[in-house]
Amino acid sequence: MNVNKVVVLGGGVLGSQIAYQSAYSGFETVIYDISNEAVASAQKKVDSYPAQYQHDMNATDDQINTANENLSLTTDLKAAITDADIIIEAVPERLGIKESTYQSLAPYLKDDALLLTNSSTLIPSQLIGFAPNNKRFMAMHFANLIWVHNVAELMWAPNTPQSTIDDAQDFAQQIHMIPILIHKEVSGYIMNSIFLPMINAALSLWANGFSDPISIDKNWMVSMGVDRGPFGFLDIMGLNTAVNIEKGFYQNTKDETFKKIADKLSEYVKANKLGVATGEGFYHYPDPEYQKPEFVKA
Ligand code: NAD
Repeated sequence: MNVNKVVVLGGGVLGSQIAYQSAYSGFETVIYDISNEAVASAQKKVDSYPAQYQHDMNATDDQINTANENLSLTTDLKAAITDADIIIEAVPERLGIKESTYQSLAPYLKDDALLLTNSSTLIPSQLIGFAPNNKRFMAMHFANLIWVHNVAELMWAPNTPQSTIDDAQDFAQQIHMIPILIHKEVSGYIMNSIFLPMINAALSLWANGFSDPISIDKNWMVSMGVDRGPFGFLDIMGLNTAVNIEKGFYQNTKDETFKKIADKLSEYVKANKLGVATGEGFYHYPDPEYQKPEFVKA
């Protein structure tokens, strides 16, 4: 498939990263978001990436300039979608928002355009009915900080044509991701099937009053020999996204612990403590306490 133009729907935590990675990889890339405020917030995130790419990827000035030239942001859906070859949806993890977003694309979408969802918990079969062209829809799920954690989990519905899967896999490689093919649909894909039970265990210890975020992270970091604990990860994920995920678990299971967790996380969101994105969550940024040597000193 010949890819000239990539559009990312939603310039939030993940959408802005996906768009920057696509632009950095040489594709004309457009971020579409719903309001001027959302675009300004996406621009702020985008502006923070050159320094991170220089630090983590040894990106050159030329590469950064090219990425910046390739990337634009807009609130004009028609202009964004017209002529787009690949559309990556990274809107909030709520079925109704995904549905209305897909339906709004229909008048502008090219017949053979590939629509990919970055959903973390919704499987393609739950979303495919909303897609304007169900033969050209599947999931490509990225990990946070995608330039260093560069996997793309690929998942599709039972009747998705092989050509669509091949096109998605090619694109993943062209933006320097390691494609991971998932043979059967599973909510949580591979990474979150492992990661979310761990996060939920930590959140439930906190929400049920057994321990506190700092002690839980310290324990996990020292015991497992890793440099970040579950609450450090939550700050990167964004506590607003975490609330949506926990609400989803509650709806599906009616387990009161998930409601308790969502309520506690919502207090942070109401105070604009979303994590790295707003400079404060469980920790303060850009220099979170858990990265200081004394955090894990005896
Ligand atoms: P976010 O809340 O940071 O960003 C969502 C963005 O979508 C916001 O900028 C919002 O203004 C915009 N938006 C809302 N409605 C829209 C619409 N109709 N059209 C276009 N934009 C719209 O969310 P996020 O954390 O980036 O998550 C987005 C998706 O990516 C979710 O499906 C989530 O599960 C998935 N994801 C998140 C992570 C993570 O670590 N945060 C990792 C992998 C996948």
